[in-house]
Amino acid sequence: MKICLVEDDLELGRALAAALRQDGHEAVWVRRAGDAKHWIGGDTFDAALLDLGLPDGNGLELIHHFRTEGKTLPILVITAREGMEDRLKGLNLGADDYLVKPFAIEELLARLRAVVRRAAGWSDQKEAIWTVKDLVLDEKRMTVTRDGQPVILSKTEFALLHVLMKHADRVLTRQEIETQAMLHNEGHVLDVHISKLRKKIGDGYIRTVRGIGYMLEK
Ligand code: CA
Repeated sequence: MKICLVEDDLELGRALAAALRQDGHEAVWVRRAGDAKHWIGGDTFDAALLDLGLPDGNGLELIHHFRTEGKTLPILVITAREGMEDRLKGLNLGADDYLVKPFAIEELLARLRAVVRRAAGWSDQKEAIWTVKDLVLDEKRMTVTRDGQPVILSKTEFALLHVLMKHADRVLTRQEIETQAMLHNEGHVLDVHISKLRKKIGDGYIRTVRGIGYMLEK
């Protein structure tokens, strides 16, 4: 996704821009409200991350500006202000979600994905279906098909594939996969399950990233 990051704090801005890029996004980082108007006004972004306290203006005014200009991109507000009043004001003016500093990067990325999905009009039903290449995983029905043909997986294999598909094109550490798939962190348990999963879905999906973990390629 293409994200406009509006954050005047050098250290935080740098960290957020790096995290966004690491998560596979294209990030344009600006530090002033004027620059945000320029970039968001003249380009197409999938979402904006917006700090409220900017050196040359207020983030709330910026949201108001974009909404009255007809810009519909999802806006995730990041701010040090904890005041309920600001929170409500932000949402009333058209912010999509709100995150109070300090926050974990993972939390930010998850919220960002959520606001973009919501903005794209995804229903709950759609969110429960993941597609990578010709693989389709239905979260609710707990089924997997490859090229339209059912693939029978064990509960653990399904959980593993689910984690990998949710984060497709991102390298997941062994620990991340084990935690999310609720696997015991014991020796080569993960590798054994991955190997079984590969046999069932076929080669060319799950890539081993040496010394780190695995990745499902789109
Ligand atoms: Ca600030």
